[in-house]
Amino acid sequence: MTLRQVCRSPVHNGPAAWSEILGPAAARPALAGEVGCDLAIVGAGFGGLSAARRLRQIAPGTKVVVVDAGWVAEGGAGRNSGFMIDLPHELTSHDYAGTGEGRDKILTRLNRQAIDWAGEAVRDYGIPEGYFQRSGKINGAASDVGQRGNTSYAAHLSALNEPHELLDEKAMREITGTGYYRSGLYTPGTAMLQPAGYVRGFAEGLARDGVTIFEKSTVLRFESTGSGWRLHFAGGTLSAAKVILANNGHLESFGFKQGRLMHIMLNACMTEELSEAQLRALGGKACWGITPSDPMGTTVRRISTAQGGNRIVIRQGGYYRPDMETSAADLERLRVRMRQKFEARFPMLSSVKFQYAWSGHLCLSKNGVSLMRELEPGLFSACVCNGLGTARGTLYGIGAAELACGQTSDITAFFLEEDEPVKLPPHPFDTIGANAYMRWKEWQARLE
Ligand SMILES: Cc1cc2nc3c(=O)[nH]c(=O)nc-3n(C[C@H](O)[C@H](O)[C@H](O)COP(=O)(O)OP(=O)(O)OC[C@H]3O[C@@H](n4cnc5c(N)ncnc54)[C@H](O)[C@@H]3O)c2cc1C
Repeated sequence: MTLRQVCRSPVHNGPAAWSEILGPAAARPALAGEVGCDLAIVGAGFGGLSAARRLRQIAPGTKVVVVDAGWVAEGGAGRNSGFMIDLPHELTSHDYAGTGEGRDKILTRLNRQAIDWAGEAVRDYGIPEGYFQRSGKINGAASDVGQRGNTSYAAHLSALNEPHELLDEKAMREITGTGYYRSGLYTPGTAMLQPAGYVRGFAEGLARDGVTIFEKSTVLRFESTGSGWRLHFAGGTLSAAKVILANNGHLESFGFKQGRLMHIMLNACMTEELSEAQLRALGGKACWGITPSDPMGTTVRRISTAQGGNRIVIRQGGYYRPDMETSAADLERLRVRMRQKFEARFPMLSSVKFQYAWSGHLCLSKNGVSLMRELEPGLFSACVCNGLGTARGTLYGIGAAELACGQTSDITAFFLEEDEPVKLPPHPFDTIGANAYMRWKEWQARLE
């Protein structure tokens, strides 16, 4: 049995702010000694925890152990913007409006299934309502290009009988308090998460339901034992008949799909808590979420006490980093840029400081596919979020659990029909090309 090395472990830059604002959670132990189970899941994010819940539903007698290199919600789960989105960003494809059920249409239906399924978990696990709100989102437009994008998107939605509402400048100001946006396009299907609260509550629910979770337990090596798999940690080993790798881009660190996965480090900032006077100066509603009409633009959220404080969260700018790390200099450059974006939108809040700035890792494939499949006998993957892992991660987690139990569904069928991620140009050409492309697209979307 060859012992295979995991070449890289997650490294975080900046705090997982969504988790920080909730205060510390009760720590779980790290894996120690020799532990055995039927099914081991690597990664306690959206993918891994969804897989564990699905296993509880379809194979309740299965002994499930989840391990994560960090604390629950310290990784991507505590670093994202919390939009659990049903619709694709582009609706211009013939595929969507065609007569058959094209890929976008299927994915929209599955995303809605994932959001419903997550809503059931919220009820079952007693997760606070403020951590999962089916309140929809607004596509904000601040330029002519953005307005044209929203108008065209709205026309497609009308043709498809999808509910939506076009908002004018006044309506946008009444919601957000800022006069920055010239129009908006509201769609009701997105669930807005306090992502760390949701994931922490999910993990607590699973633990009450008999799933064992080990934190600060990094898989360092792994091997096939013939009858199953053994994972090696600093303090012990975990043997399992089957394993689901739900570690997103770190699938590559386990030696799979090398040269095919794109690692993007995305960045965000969160303000300190706004005072009563600052809230009055801002005006608008207590809770809203804006995605940019151009995906390379700036995402902005206003959250309130139900999510951990009256604050503004802003996300802008990413780097292509095959080593899955950002530097302090990367983050500082983007913090300065996010400050400019913040002040352009909220001149009345110029005295408000950013309390947190952070980077997070997401994984894309050039052809937009995820990896939910059996990699080797008994070894499954639920990875490659393509930037939308709150919904997609939920889906590939469900799918991997079903696949590991020999079940089929619309979800397994969708992922199993996907192609392989296409090959990327060799280093450093991939890095140079991707970063140049991203800077150019960000420049084009600079007002959005
Ligand atoms: C700034 C930012 C904003 C974003 N906004 C959104 C958004 O609004 N909506 C959306 O849908 N998505 C968003 N995303 C993307 C989203 O965060 C990811 O898609 C999602 O977290 C993927 O979930 P996952 O469970 O597949 O992987 P992850 O959340 O990355 O979880 C994988 C887990 O595997 C663990 N792991 C890795 N290697 C090992 C190892 N060797 N041993 C043990 N454990 C290991 C990691 O610690 C990690 O916790 C955003 C991301 C960023 C960075």
